[in-house]
Amino acid sequence: MTDTSSRRIDLPLIDHHCHGVVDAELSDEEFRSLATESDWPGPAGTDSLESPFGLAVRRFCAPVLGLEPLAPLDEYLAQRRTIGASEANRLLLRSTGTSDYLLDTGIPDGRLLRPAAMAVCAGARVRGIVRIERVAELLAAESTAAGFVTEFPETLAARAREVVGLKSIVAYRHGFDIPAERPSGRELLQAADRWFRTAEETGTFRVTDPVLLSFGLWSGIQTGLPIQLHVGYGDGDIELFRADPSRLTRFFHATRTLGVDFMLLHCYPFVREAGILAQIFPHVYLDVGLVSHYLGPSAGSAIRQAVEIAPFSKILYSSDAYGLGEHYAVSAANWRTAFAALMDEWVASGWATPNDAEKIASMVAAENAKRVYNLNPEGPMPIA
Ligand SMILES: [Zn+2]
Repeated sequence: MTDTSSRRIDLPLIDHHCHGVVDAELSDEEFRSLATESDWPGPAGTDSLESPFGLAVRRFCAPVLGLEPLAPLDEYLAQRRTIGASEANRLLLRSTGTSDYLLDTGIPDGRLLRPAAMAVCAGARVRGIVRIERVAELLAAESTAAGFVTEFPETLAARAREVVGLKSIVAYRHGFDIPAERPSGRELLQAADRWFRTAEETGTFRVTDPVLLSFGLWSGIQTGLPIQLHVGYGDGDIELFRADPSRLTRFFHATRTLGVDFMLLHCYPFVREAGILAQIFPHVYLDVGLVSHYLGPSAGSAIRQAVEIAPFSKILYSSDAYGLGEHYAVSAANWRTAFAALMDEWVASGWATPNDAEKIASMVAAENAKRVYNLNPEGPMPIA
């Protein structure tokens, strides 16, 4: 069977990992700062938007704001100011065709829209994801070392009842070389003691101890909810080699039969490692969010790697958008374009029927997320 038509993927997306948008008016410098994961400003005379993401903004977002594709950046930023941040975000978020956003509210940035406001801005359902380490740090600030060890699992379980999943940032607090097995009570008390003594000196609770991070994950497992794990590229404090998900192999063996799913987020540049883990372990999944916008014209290479080896039931769509409406818009447009091109190729070269292509796209776009997070699209608009 041949099908030479160019496919369009118009399915509603479920964005299973993203953050809030900044609804305030942004200066050009603030916009540029939110358009990169690196420290800003960069070297004198350089521009963070002269980048793959900058090209993607010009290609995909300029038309959403009423400009020609690839309009110059200055023109784009001027148009954004004229329209106003709220309206620009509304247009950009609604251009994505996303029906559900699973929002990680764990970044302590007061500028980000909360879930209820995000739902209004995006015209979509918003469901919450709780960040394990944030719950631990807030509890620790009003507890004792022994109290923390006793109370944390129940505190996390209470938060879990309000949301559809948990998220962990073990990768950039320590790395994935954490204990594979659940820490003993004695190990936990010792680690909590060390943590509380350090906090007395620094005045702040920031969990970086591998035993405590492991405790967070094992407490998360007790809730039964899917646990998202940041993998690979992301915040500037990542030691990249320690964020390689293959370091979790023994942990995945230890958790294989517990009925809890692990969602490997972003995964770049370890997309193939993540794909292998998702193929081997029934409870491991992957996405290529974040690079869906930051790779700009090359995002298709990560999207292709994601479908190289893992079963199609183990791959999800996410944007990992944060702050700028442009992140959501570029990720969705890039995913739709790259995935459609890939499916065209498979159909044209005899690897899939048009029906196969449609089914694979719908699994990745939304069906897998509905199944794993047990989302009920017919229900009321749940807002965390
Ligand atoms: Zn994220």
